[in-house]
Amino acid sequence: MLSFDENVNLAALNTFGFGAIAEKFIQIESHEMLVALVDYCQHHQLPLLVLGGGSNLILAEKIPGIVALMALRGQELTQDNEHEVHLKVAAGENWHETVVSTLNQGLYGLENLALIPGTVGAAPMQNIGAYGVELKDRMFSLEALDRETLQFVTLKTSDCQFGYRDSLFKSICPEKYIIVSVTFALTRALDQLELSYLALKDTCERIAGQEKITPWHVFEAVCDLRRSKLPDPRRIGNVGSFFKNPKVSLNEYEHLKSEFPNLIGFPDAEGYKLAAGWLIEHCGWKGYQTEGVGVFEKQALVLINLGSGNRQQIAALAERIQDSVYQCFNVSLEVEPRFYP
Ligand code: FAD
Ligand code: NAP
Repeated sequence: MLSFDENVNLAALNTFGFGAIAEKFIQIESHEMLVALVDYCQHHQLPLLVLGGGSNLILAEKIPGIVALMALRGQELTQDNEHEVHLKVAAGENWHETVVSTLNQGLYGLENLALIPGTVGAAPMQNIGAYGVELKDRMFSLEALDRETLQFVTLKTSDCQFGYRDSLFKSICPEKYIIVSVTFALTRALDQLELSYLALKDTCERIAGQEKITPWHVFEAVCDLRRSKLPDPRRIGNVGSFFKNPKVSLNEYEHLKSEFPNLIGFPDAEGYKLAAGWLIEHCGWKGYQTEGVGVFEKQALVLINLGSGNRQQIAALAERIQDSVYQCFNVSLEVEPRFYP
């Protein structure tokens, strides 16, 4: 039942475009196949990497064990009433295409998260977020295979310990669950918009003109903003933001703000969230290029593959950036994507 391809190059399956040879490779096409695969890995004590769109991964040149591409497809409405609509989407569906599909069905709520690369199944991993909306705000539940018990379980949003670019699946028990579907809680109401990000609000107003702003305007504005600021991974290898925005206490924020009046920060539950891109830019890294890799010229939070780059070069550049930000601001930057293995 399980048939593996051997020594598969994953260069086209990760958005950095790094060459990475998978010892064994397979596509997950059914729940039964997934159970058989996890059982096989346990039996043979093989590491298993579940791969989505490869847009949050930094792969080594050789990947031991098995790489399994999540290829489960499909979506279905599981609840539909005047207040809330539940849409269950399989883990292998493309994220952005799913956002477009919801809008085409008159289901709103995911528009702020347009154009994020990757798959639906990976979205809960780091509780993807953009322009004031996080996955947790729109998720009702998810279904996952527990790798230890080989049973499928349903987890509610409150079970997933979602945090800022974080979840149960990313940092608490990273090897325990394989997500097979996500159920979203969406609305048919046209007026439940999230426009707290100034650039988004301004762009929506420009696009809508005299009309009332709708979720479609928000979608278009998010796509416009992202296309103007972020490198397209099909042309320039990258994994989006390389570092998380660091959190500091109110005291630390006030101290830094008095020293650096242009510092960008936003209040949050624990204190302040600093814009990591501003910290990196202030240290002079924006547009910097070195052997094989560099810092994107329009957004310093994005590290790029100049074409011939590799994981060692990216890791070395990231460390230099972390050191200089720490020297200047006494603030530590945490890497957002996963290094595997
Ligand atoms: P992968 O990179 O394939 O995998 C990421 C991790 O999830 C790995 O550990 C993998 O093993 C695991 N995984 C994948 N699928 C499953 C599954 N079904 N079950 C269990 N584990 C799984 N992120 C944001 O939060 N907000 C943004 O606005 C954003 N913008 C981006 C823009 C660009 C240009 C790029 C390149 C990246 C951006 N990202 C953003 C990061 C990235 O797109 C997201 O984190 C995305 O959800 C990763 O999905 P993926 O399918 O590519 O995951
Ligand atoms: P931006 O709009 O220039 O803003 C810079 C930073 O300030 C962002 O990181 C954002 O934090 C924060 N911010 C701005 N307005 C805010 C507000 N009203 N309330 C709270 N925080 C605010 O950022 P950008 O680089 O163009 O990115 C736009 C959005 O896309 C952001 O939400 C960003 O997270 C997301 N994005 C994420 C990735 C990734 O890989 N993770 C890649 C590209 C873009 P937040 O980051 O917390 O939103």
